Amino acid sequence: EKPINYRPTKAIIDLQAIEHNLISLRQYIGKDIQIIAVVKANAYGHGDVEVARTAIQAGATMLAVATPDEAVHMRGNFKDIDILVLGATPPNFAPYASQENIILTVFSTSWIETVKQYIPLANQLKLHIKVDSGMGRIGVSTKEDLLELYEAIVMSNDFILDGIFTHFATADEEDSLYFDNQVTLFKDFLSVLPKRPRLVHVANTATTLVKEPSLQYDAVRFGISMYGLLPSSFVGSKMPFPIKPAFSLHTELIHIKKMHAGQSVGYGATYTLEEDCYIGTIPIGYADGMLRKLEGQEVLVGGKKAKIVGRICMDQSMILLPTAYNVGEEVVLIGRQQHEQITMDDWATKLQTINYEIPCVITARVPRVYK
Ligand code: PLP
Repeated sequence: EKPINYRPTKAIIDLQAIEHNLISLRQYIGKDIQIIAVVKANAYGHGDVEVARTAIQAGATMLAVATPDEAVHMRGNFKDIDILVLGATPPNFAPYASQENIILTVFSTSWIETVKQYIPLANQLKLHIKVDSGMGRIGVSTKEDLLELYEAIVMSNDFILDGIFTHFATADEEDSLYFDNQVTLFKDFLSVLPKRPRLVHVANTATTLVKEPSLQYDAVRFGISMYGLLPSSFVGSKMPFPIKPAFSLHTELIHIKKMHAGQSVGYGATYTLEEDCYIGTIPIGYADGMLRKLEGQEVLVGGKKAKIVGRICMDQSMILLPTAYNVGEEVVLIGRQQHEQITMDDWATKLQTINYEIPCVITARVPRVYK
């Protein structure tokens, strides 16, 4: 067997936390509403195969991915589960999608016409219509276009209209004016359909957890809080159940030395010690997704907070230690250690971004280890 993971830097993914978050969701929404587990982008960086397996075991009936390639990867690992591609798909993916029972998102009649050149398909191709009710991203944006697309799909025996959906731009915000307008518009679009498809779904995490339960329709698309993260602090203040974060980031000290007042640390020699102290080196850097803007961010060593000092290098970084530790001492970058915790939101604040982005940009060099 090939030796792997010699470097102590790793992300530990707690699949029980994911299971807990899904079971709590199930209790909250009841048994009649389906759970679509959003596992796009390698399950928000958590590892799509393991997360999908956990989600299916916890009762998710569909996996949602963003791209055709992600769908191929999921189908290679899961033979029976429904897979929905949320994003746009080139028409030449249709034969494979039909053969492998992959559900595609559609929002233009010309796409349907182009796909007809691949007829006969192995099986009827399942489609979900995407309505643009205010994201301005993809989707039909007039009732006329919706009806034309609807007719093109249902008139042909090569397609099955399996679903219709939309996505909200501001579901995680306190002000609900824009959200309410999107809801009204979607309902209006829905009302022109001669027949509703099997699955109507509009709710992302925020909509599912803090909005009117009727918006859960037939299924909810559960992403960020499946991973134990909050869509926003507003949603955090209204959570119907507690969630558990699944992702933690760990490494170890690989070198410790006593340094003296006046000495400097790192590229550019930008951090100069004011007094004698211990500096530790950790094997993680910006090539792992620990971006240089995280300089000054705290990490946990021996149950205490310690700061990243000097510029973050490509593969290594330095931290200011409260006392001398030995090589091999555990360092937690995201997660708990004894009574202290550094969260994904702490990193997001430091990077002036949202928590969603953090696990996605922890690169593939950091092995995901499952517990
Ligand atoms: N649905 C669509 C169309 C999305 O693009 C996303 C994520 O961006 C989701 C659902 C899941 O959203 P969340 O992670 O906020 O639950």
